[in-house]
Amino acid sequence: MKKRRFPLYVQILLGMLLGILAGFVAVRTGHGQFIDHWVRPWGQIFIKLLQVIAIPLVFCSLVKGVISLKDIAHLSRLGGRVLLIYIGTTVFAIVFGLFMALVVSPGKLCDASHLSGMEGFVQTAVESAQKATEGKERGPLAFFEDLVPENIISAASSNQNMLQIIFFAILFGTALLAVPAEKTRAVRSFIDGLNEVMLKMVDFIILAAPVGVFALMASMVVSNAGNASVFSALAVYTLTVAVALLCMIFLFYPALIFFFSKMSPKRFIRAMYPVQLLGFTTSSSSATLPFNMETLEKKLGISEKTVSFVLPVGATINMDGTSCYQAIAVVFIAQVMGIHLDWGDLLSIVALTTISSIGTPGIPGGSYVILTMVLSSVGIPSEGLALILGVDRPLDMLRTSVNVTGDATVSVLVDTPDTDKA
Ligand code: ASP
Repeated sequence: MKKRRFPLYVQILLGMLLGILAGFVAVRTGHGQFIDHWVRPWGQIFIKLLQVIAIPLVFCSLVKGVISLKDIAHLSRLGGRVLLIYIGTTVFAIVFGLFMALVVSPGKLCDASHLSGMEGFVQTAVESAQKATEGKERGPLAFFEDLVPENIISAASSNQNMLQIIFFAILFGTALLAVPAEKTRAVRSFIDGLNEVMLKMVDFIILAAPVGVFALMASMVVSNAGNASVFSALAVYTLTVAVALLCMIFLFYPALIFFFSKMSPKRFIRAMYPVQLLGFTTSSSSATLPFNMETLEKKLGISEKTVSFVLPVGATINMDGTSCYQAIAVVFIAQVMGIHLDWGDLLSIVALTTISSIGTPGIPGGSYVILTMVLSSVGIPSEGLALILGVDRPLDMLRTSVNVTGDATVSVLVDTPDTDKA
């Protein structure tokens, strides 16, 4: 097979830069309409391709995640702790991400009144949110009422019903565990196979990312008539995510290790460095899993028993970097589009992101699909993803490093054979 000349992330970056350039040239030379008619649709097609696989992908990953929890039940005492720490660190990462995004407010640097291309989306979102609450006096249990779908086909007919799909997937996975394995072999291998196919589809779609990002950036520049504030907002957003993720790696995890284990954070950081680098370069926590396991066992002396179940489960369900980034991305997109998020919305973001991080595959760009669903679920048009895709690759690399460090930290916390706090 012929080798690609540039790695994909370089192509995406090039797509972004060329898109911005093409947009500015079109604005200058009065070819805005050409971009609108002939380039913009390719960006929309790319976003739609990401959206179309969202529901089957989330369903399969979640059912697989629930099935893998069976191993946790086997090691009940340790398992309960592991699960609790996984959820705890994920929630912390999201709340920290929200805090950073609300304090720095990168999206507010962008003058929303110029975002003419987004007006339509914002209006649609506001209208659909209004329609949802119209004429209904909503009681305190409305959230739970909405959580349960009355028909799985109609729930799956809109990406806005992500929580209903999640609810059904968890119920389905739990029931699958309760039925004797010999009766469900076919269903399990079907879900396994379907999951693999979905991941392959993500692979294919991501290959189109350079073209998609080019089109999205060019049409964004045109619809903003060269308004540069979007780009300064984007730069501050990138920096905010990077700083938040670095804080997770260099402050949060070492602090957990320091306070809750007997290992020295210095030793942990030193041993983890190559693993983080592999996560960074591959952008895939699944691909980093074997090396992460080996490092924990051989360099940090964590028992094989702990590593062999804490890490694989973690690589599937625990994604602190991804969760932190999603929280910042959602707030940023909402701010740029001038959509106000109240406390209820923020709470939904915490809940949704926590659950959806379980359904995020550990592959490069695995969270794009999930992010489109989180956005639509809180009433933000998922086209907003266009804003951040161009700068996403380096952030994907960084959040994968956080994801793998998070899994390793939990292994150390639940199994610390060494007693050197040096
Ligand atoms: N690339 C990430 C991982 O493999 C997932 C994501 O956030 O896109 O952990």
